[in-house]
Amino acid sequence: MLQPEQQPLSAAPVPSVAGPLLFWYDRHARALPWRVSPESRTAGTPPEPYRIWLSEVMLQQTTVATVKSYFARFVDRWPTVGAVAAAPETDILGEWAGLGYYARARNLHACAKTVTDDFDGCFPRTAAELRALPGIGEYTSAAIAAIAFDEPVAVVDGNVERVVTRLFAIEAPLPGARKTIRAHVAALTPDSRPGDFAQAMMDLGATVCTPTGPACILCPLRVHCRAATQGRAAQFPVKKPKAAPPERKGAAFVAVRPADGAIWLRRRARSGMLGGMSEPPTTEWSARADGATGAEAAPFAANWRYQGAVTHGFTHFRLELEVYRAELTQEPPIAGWWSNEAARGGEALPTLMRKVLDRALADPAEPRQSPKAQPRKRAG
Ligand code: SF4
Repeated sequence: MLQPEQQPLSAAPVPSVAGPLLFWYDRHARALPWRVSPESRTAGTPPEPYRIWLSEVMLQQTTVATVKSYFARFVDRWPTVGAVAAAPETDILGEWAGLGYYARARNLHACAKTVTDDFDGCFPRTAAELRALPGIGEYTSAAIAAIAFDEPVAVVDGNVERVVTRLFAIEAPLPGARKTIRAHVAALTPDSRPGDFAQAMMDLGATVCTPTGPACILCPLRVHCRAATQGRAAQFPVKKPKAAPPERKGAAFVAVRPADGAIWLRRRARSGMLGGMSEPPTTEWSARADGATGAEAAPFAANWRYQGAVTHGFTHFRLELEVYRAELTQEPPIAGWWSNEAARGGEALPTLMRKVLDRALADPAEPRQSPKAQPRKRAG
């Protein structure tokens, strides 16, 4: 017997989803700073590929609510793709700080340069061409091609996955069911207004077909929806249980200049985790291995005091960094720079390193007990 994900699409009737969905979208589209509303599009205002590209890169792994303020600052500071290309990478990383997944920022800069240098500042118009650019994968290329250039390609993000698995009651778990979901979306996508259709599917998932408590009563696709008909909407999408992420350890060393409270920062290597971002010196740590811990792991001698630990969740592991602090009147013997409080807001400090600084500068009344050396688990 065929598993659900193996069943041919022809076995599932393709409902006429585009008509009712677009009718709903014309009335309920979310107002987003990078979006041209359905009314404005009808009135002849085209979407701006630069804004669509920027928003889609920012939205990879990040919520709309978080992206809005970053997007506003970026377009204010760099209103065109050419302006992004001309900016120093450190400025891009500084403006990106806090958004996470910093390879996106480096790829954003590389992509802007390619579009400026090789395409005369104009984004290519098809998903296939867009996919050849730095930092643009299958989803992002499809989203830009559909939304900015109305190419009828399947656009599948997490919201769309949820809507489609419910619409067709797809029992196969994610991520294995993705191929089936994409095929369904391709079959549903209309030749007319494919960009609005893609955005409508995303909006439906974000505002009506929500992860918990979907508002089926308000849904324009209610009559077509198998999961709703079966009263099982909340059971989809089916997900493969996730294993607990491995834990990594390391230590961070915050040197403080007593005269003005400046801290010693350095730049991480361009490749690897948090590549190119600023940090107080840390031991090695990565998705594959623990770093050294304890004050003896410091990159230079000082009167290091243990300030506690901070934890941070990355996609594939959870990191615990011990935080040490020392007052230094002289420059440390490693590359870096002093960053005073006024300059710190503009530093390309990722969220993890801001947590480290907050912990180091919290200045507890009593010095904390340094953790005793314990045998550390190492995952393979
Ligand atoms: S009817 Fe309910 S479950 Fe089905 S697509 Fe609409 S909101 Fe989602």
